[in-house]
Amino acid sequence: MLGKSFNQIEISRSALRHNYKLLKQLARTKTRLLAMVKADAYGHGMLESSLAFSEAGCHDFGVAEIAEAVELRKSGIEGNIFVFLGFAAADVSLFFSYDLIPIIYDIESARILSSEAVTQNVEITVHVKVDCGMTRLGIMPDEFEEFVAVLQTLPGIKYGGLASHFPRADEPESSQTREQFLRFECLGVSESKVPELVAHTANSGGILYFPDSSCSMVRAGISLYGYYPDGETGVERATGEKLQPAMRFKTKVLQVKTVTKGTGVSYGHTYITDKETTIAVLPVGYEDGLSRSLSNKGEVLIHGKRASVIGRICMNLCMIDVSDIDSVQAGDEVVLLGRQQSDEITGDAIANLMGSISYEILCLFGNNNQRTYVE
Ligand SMILES: *Cc1c(COP(=O)(O)O)cnc(C)c1O
Repeated sequence: MLGKSFNQIEISRSALRHNYKLLKQLARTKTRLLAMVKADAYGHGMLESSLAFSEAGCHDFGVAEIAEAVELRKSGIEGNIFVFLGFAAADVSLFFSYDLIPIIYDIESARILSSEAVTQNVEITVHVKVDCGMTRLGIMPDEFEEFVAVLQTLPGIKYGGLASHFPRADEPESSQTREQFLRFECLGVSESKVPELVAHTANSGGILYFPDSSCSMVRAGISLYGYYPDGETGVERATGEKLQPAMRFKTKVLQVKTVTKGTGVSYGHTYITDKETTIAVLPVGYEDGLSRSLSNKGEVLIHGKRASVIGRICMNLCMIDVSDIDSVQAGDEVVLLGRQQSDEITGDAIANLMGSISYEILCLFGNNNQRTYVE
């Protein structure tokens, strides 16, 4: 598309690298740090983010579906690329042509991979997903031993690792994570059994709050992008060096107008001015990821000050009250996410207003607007 959008997502490469290095320090020395770059790297751009993590020393990347993995490999990313959600039988050859690692959770997939491996006369490494308490993807712990036994009889299959996932690692006080980790350890993760076996279960919460659960690899998502999995509580809890949010969302004022007391604003007139009000119109709406649920609730920064969203958020537009901010003009920069002068609007703050989590805000903003990258 020709022409630059008013709405720009700005991603800081140095913040991405900083977060990677900081998390690497938190994990045990020999622990590999896999970068979860699914959902277009939580809205930060899969390729650009992967490049930044590579520069910081990353060799392991995780995506949800095979198409993402193929795109990543085609773009020249080296190292291991793990596909977490399985695959359709018709796509099996892609694992071989693009050198990808499937995470499997049923023996049928293993058989399909095995038969392709035999056809191509090569070996493929697979990791097994075990459900130790998330109640999502994975085989159950009591099926594990038999599963691996069958797996190891399949020609062309190399059993390279096992994975699980924590449902409550963002709650440092919860005992659930320790219990679940014990279940994971009981699967015979002990490195003596299969020396090169890669075991991984810790997500951001695991890395930050349960360092003992590191194993041979950890998988960071939200923390790589500068957010704590437990939101503002995590920011307050953090000591020492902090994660740095990598995303800013900025736009420009389209028009400014002053209306009299008693004027209805936007669809449904859900906001009626209670005084003479100066309104700035912004080219951002729910199509751009600014959820309609933030109508009459959201805040933005302009001239370094806070202004409230008034009236309903439309598809491509919304209105803010700038009565208390001097000389706002069309073209002025508005920040919806991130810092402007000395104030900052965080993904956690927006998430709180929406009853959501920073993860969703980053995806909504990042994946619905043009992105630019800065150092
Ligand atoms: C998304 C995801 C992660 C990363 O979780 P964060 O909380 O963002 O760190 C780790 N493992 C799996 C299987 C995931 O799907």
